[in-house]
Amino acid sequence: MENNHKVKHIFVTGGVVSSLGKGIASASLGMLLQSRGLKVTIMKMDPYINVDPGTMSPFQHGEVYVTEDGAETDLDLGHYERFLNKSTSQLNNTTTGQIYFEVITRERRGDYLGKTVQVIPHITDEIKRHISAVALSEPDLDVVITEVGGTVGDIESLPFLEAIRQYRLDIGKDNVLNIHLTLVPYIASAGELKTKPTQHSVMRLREIGIQPDILLCRTERALPEDLKAKIALFCNVPIDSVISAADVSSIYEVPLYFNAQKLDDLVVERLNLKCGQPKLAKWNKVIEKLRNPQHEVTIAMCGKYVDLQDSYKSIIESFVHAGVSNDAKVKLKWISSEILEKQHPSEYLSDVAGLLIPGGFGDRGIEGKINAVSYARENKIPFFGICLGLQCAVIEFARNICKLENANSMEFNSETPYPVIDLMEQQKRVKSKGGTMRLGSSMCKITEGTLAHKIYGKTEIMERHRHRFEVNNDYRELLESRGMILSGINPELDLVEMIELPEHPWFVGGQFHPELQSRVLEVHPLFREFVAAALKFKQKNTNANS
Ligand code: GLN
Repeated sequence: MENNHKVKHIFVTGGVVSSLGKGIASASLGMLLQSRGLKVTIMKMDPYINVDPGTMSPFQHGEVYVTEDGAETDLDLGHYERFLNKSTSQLNNTTTGQIYFEVITRERRGDYLGKTVQVIPHITDEIKRHISAVALSEPDLDVVITEVGGTVGDIESLPFLEAIRQYRLDIGKDNVLNIHLTLVPYIASAGELKTKPTQHSVMRLREIGIQPDILLCRTERALPEDLKAKIALFCNVPIDSVISAADVSSIYEVPLYFNAQKLDDLVVERLNLKCGQPKLAKWNKVIEKLRNPQHEVTIAMCGKYVDLQDSYKSIIESFVHAGVSNDAKVKLKWISSEILEKQHPSEYLSDVAGLLIPGGFGDRGIEGKINAVSYARENKIPFFGICLGLQCAVIEFARNICKLENANSMEFNSETPYPVIDLMEQQKRVKSKGGTMRLGSSMCKITEGTLAHKIYGKTEIMERHRHRFEVNNDYRELLESRGMILSGINPELDLVEMIELPEHPWFVGGQFHPELQSRVLEVHPLFREFVAAALKFKQKNTNANS
């Protein structure tokens, strides 16, 4: 096994129930270690058999996060990027599907030389190879944090747990730390916090040869010392390694909460890491702003999955960042696009200061989105269209300003007389669904003097994509002649990437997903300026009504 011994590894497993926030815990610890001057990266291992989440429904999976190099990955990678303020790559997300795909491909090639191919050692070796690849992916990495998806006790996560058990032996116990995130529920009828589920979860881990070094106990209320002592005794860890992870009001407070309990000190000491004290001044400032916003503004989110907010995770977080940079609390008003097909948009949009139409697939609710765009355009409400949102804005403009009756996207109506949104030539040949969209980062040239130019402050930007359809170049001239500005163009593929309307205070669309690049300490300029425009709109309306 190829290993870089200088790199230390932290494995984060989860117990008792899912959704305890392993991703946030990993990202928070990563951020704390990074703030001490260490070079850190985080990877996620997902036990499902899909090669990646790109083919899963949002109901199954939530948001599909796209990396710069075009991998469709788990939404936890978004947390890693937002907390660490650095980009991840396809190496940072491994699935059972990928592991088996590679092992079976190797078997078909004859690489196993007649051996029987088995979970141990072949699958576990492949998992370990993926972990080592991340450790070698950047020069001078100090720490790789690996989050193991699923819950201890699941059949499908066993090979991953076995692989991390072996990894500790392979690279030496001083180079590895196992952190287990578990639940200590509060039972209201007994008025007590209960440690038994944690004891059982640790028992399961120890049965397969993993002794956790640190326990992060998720609780509704902070753990008292006597309970910590009890957990320490039963789970065979020192008492200072039982950390209480009580609920906090924002995910961005988690690192500070861990720091207050000296989690990073503990990790540094255990792994014998050479580094300074954490520098958290900038992060503290963000939390300060987050807790005490001076203003408030409501923005409508009009999409298909309004009951499933995990599918818009990065957008929601981008609004938190944009709120901080505008000293405002951004309230999101979720509106199902289907409702706007039956009811007039004014019923839902007259009290908002901005409208965002996010990305999406399929025709359900499309007409509602187009109605919402009309309302925002006519009433000069700040509008921000992301990917499908841009496509809806182009359809609306084609129908109502260019008078192209029944203009549409070929995705929603293949019989439309005016296919203003259409597949790119190379997409027309694509048959299989997995990993075949236009994916990952590409360059966009921005026209000088446009609103986009003012927002970005430069003429060349890199943004990430995930879509099949594009603005149809046959209609570019007409759209421009009626006043739409095509402010961003991909020079290599000659495709429209950004649109805006000059007669409107803030009407911007992007064919890409800017939300994938907004970070806690570096808000994305489009979100920052959209929220600023919404605040201005609100101010103007309040003045007009008073
Ligand atoms: N369904 C559209 C397309 O494939 C938009 C995709 C998206 O919004 N991510 O082009």
